[in-house]
Amino acid sequence: MKALGYVKAFRNSNEILDKNKRLYKQTKDNKFKKDRPLLERIESAVFNRYCLYLDNQHNLDAIIPIDSFKAYEDIMRKSYTNSKFFKTERKAIFDSLPRGRKTICPYCLISDSSTLDHYFPEALYAEYIIFTPNLIPCCEKCNELKSKSIRKTIHFYFDDISQVTYLNISLSIDSGIPVINIELDPSTPPLLIKHFHQLNLIARYKEKTSDELTQILEMLCEAYSENNYDGLMDMFVYKISSLKRIYGSNYWKACLLEAVFKSRNEILQVIANESLKKTLL
Ligand SMILES: [Zn+2]
Repeated sequence: MKALGYVKAFRNSNEILDKNKRLYKQTKDNKFKKDRPLLERIESAVFNRYCLYLDNQHNLDAIIPIDSFKAYEDIMRKSYTNSKFFKTERKAIFDSLPRGRKTICPYCLISDSSTLDHYFPEALYAEYIIFTPNLIPCCEKCNELKSKSIRKTIHFYFDDISQVTYLNISLSIDSGIPVINIELDPSTPPLLIKHFHQLNLIARYKEKTSDELTQILEMLCEAYSENNYDGLMDMFVYKISSLKRIYGSNYWKACLLEAVFKSRNEILQVIANESLKKTLL
């Protein structure tokens, strides 16, 4: 996993703040008479909460929910769903994602992003429902698993996880069959452990890596039969480094390929034995 570049699209926090104040005012002015005074009444309090968010972007635990905005949840939700300004903004968030990562869910790096997650959940933080730094592209599955939790997942604009290595994938050979082992490194930071637990990521990775390994082994068998086993393994080295550059050093596909590369001699033995068996039959 790797942080997203959305916030880099703005020069600084002041610019994000100004932009979001503008969005709020546009949304308010676009409201029917009944709702407009309600949004007017809480405007300065909402803007204070915007400042709090940006001031604590690297200390998000400090943003605890307060009750003052609870009564405004419905009107904020409606603004998020119906405002034409927000429709444009939602598209802008997807458009500003880094190259190669415009469609994949940053929470799991498995499925496509199809929705925007409210990082601080709507039910507890109504004031952030239309605040763009709180909106992170996400797949349906992660959105569903995450929904009601507070700060149990990584914030992909603000949390710095680039230097952390936490996903350990290795292969062992059991009765001639490669078996995948996946675990978190003991040094994994607590928030990442929560992230994995909340989104059930180890189980989801076990399922995905099993399918992926079948494809990899098929390719290796074919390469072996054409005397190109080492050539394909060499290609994997390039693939591992490019995947890590794009998706981060803990990307499950890169970690799986790395495990395959590390076990290349054992896998070769398995493939050679299988090939020998077929020849004898
Ligand atoms: Zn996901």
